[in-house]
Amino acid sequence: MPEALVVGAGIVGSACAYRLAEAGLRVLVLEKEATFAQGSTGKSAAGVRVQFSEPLNILLSYHSILEYQKIPEAGYRAIGYLFLVPQGLAGVQEEALATQRALGVPVAKLSLAEAQAHVPFREEGLAYATFGPMDGVIDPHGVTAYYLREARRLGAEVRFSEPLLSARRGKGVWRVRTPKGEWEAPFLLLCTGAWTGEVGRRLGMHLPVYPVRRMVFATAPAPFPHAFPLTIDLATGFYLRSEGPRLLLGRSNPAEPPGFREGMDWEWLGPTLEAGLSRFPFLEGLALDRRASWWGYYEVTPDQNPILGFVEEGLLVAAGFSGHGVQQAAMVGRLMAEEVVHGQAQSLDIRPFRLDRFREGRFLKEQGIV
Ligand SMILES: Cc1cc2nc3c(=O)[nH]c(=O)nc-3n(C[C@H](O)[C@H](O)[C@H](O)COP(=O)(O)OP(=O)(O)OC[C@H]3O[C@@H](n4cnc5c(N)ncnc54)[C@H](O)[C@@H]3O)c2cc1C
Repeated sequence: MPEALVVGAGIVGSACAYRLAEAGLRVLVLEKEATFAQGSTGKSAAGVRVQFSEPLNILLSYHSILEYQKIPEAGYRAIGYLFLVPQGLAGVQEEALATQRALGVPVAKLSLAEAQAHVPFREEGLAYATFGPMDGVIDPHGVTAYYLREARRLGAEVRFSEPLLSARRGKGVWRVRTPKGEWEAPFLLLCTGAWTGEVGRRLGMHLPVYPVRRMVFATAPAPFPHAFPLTIDLATGFYLRSEGPRLLLGRSNPAEPPGFREGMDWEWLGPTLEAGLSRFPFLEGLALDRRASWWGYYEVTPDQNPILGFVEEGLLVAAGFSGHGVQQAAMVGRLMAEEVVHGQAQSLDIRPFRLDRFREGRFLKEQGIV
């Protein structure tokens, strides 16, 4: 009999499975799709950054990036994140910078002239920029494959095309029903990303995580003088970064309704380009490659921070990263294993991200959501 059932083989579930197996537990992973990383993990823009305002977000990302740096399959590239800070947000970003510096993570404040060396932009309305030299990109698919391989090497079993249909607690174990049978274990971890609200309903409980569709637009290859870091105009939320000879472009649509809406929203291309062109006029001459563009689901909570740790006896949730789960998965895997083994996460205090904050009406304001 397994000791821990992990539901979901995205980057988060795979990291949890690996760390639980490493801690000596017999682990079974159940994934509804035919292979791993088919949810948000395979659709992300792959960015990793320490530039957040909440200390716990900064530390989850920082420790995860340190881990990704050591995993060859992670394909970590320190291309940096450049935040362009409008005058109206100058004070708020100063506070975030002070928190980042107090925690000892590398972030530099740049003048607009210094920032122009990274990417050319119109300076109107901007106060300054910040640059994270350890920020960059990874290969989320490669990391997930690595964690699953390591978990299996340590004895974990991974079963694909086997969705959790229902689960209930009784006699000290969680009993999970799938189309192929029943599994039981003392610990059940829900790492089900955007589907966590739906999975919660199957357990008869309210887990406030819902899907919101997001688009990534890709340009055709073009000759740029050098690679651009992941650059975010905080005035509009528009971002771009180099990917080989292409640029990836994006901007979250605040009016996108929650739900499992499928396919590209080409109508959002106009507002995205409008925001992009107003800051980066050089985009004018670029052609878009529709076939290289894609969409996926953010897994959003009411305060856009994840739910971490025990929510009931033997039941843990690690979900709802609201668009920044790739960069936090490594540390989340370690913390969830600690939570199971010691009854409480040890390396970091995860209380700010426990589910009870919503039950108690406490919402955490993270300024660095893109
Ligand atoms: C367009 C886009 C851009 C993004 N950019 C970034 C970025 O730059 N940086 C970053 O850090 N994050 C980014 N994200 C967010 C990131 O992709 C997610 O936060 C992260 O992948 C979450 O990982 P996960 O393992 O929790 O979820 P998922 O990868 O979605 O995994 C959940 C898994 O659970 C499975 N599942 C669901 N229900 C069941 C069930 N009933 N039974 C069994 N299995 C089930 C699913 O099939 C899925 O495989 C982006 C997301 C999108 C969509």
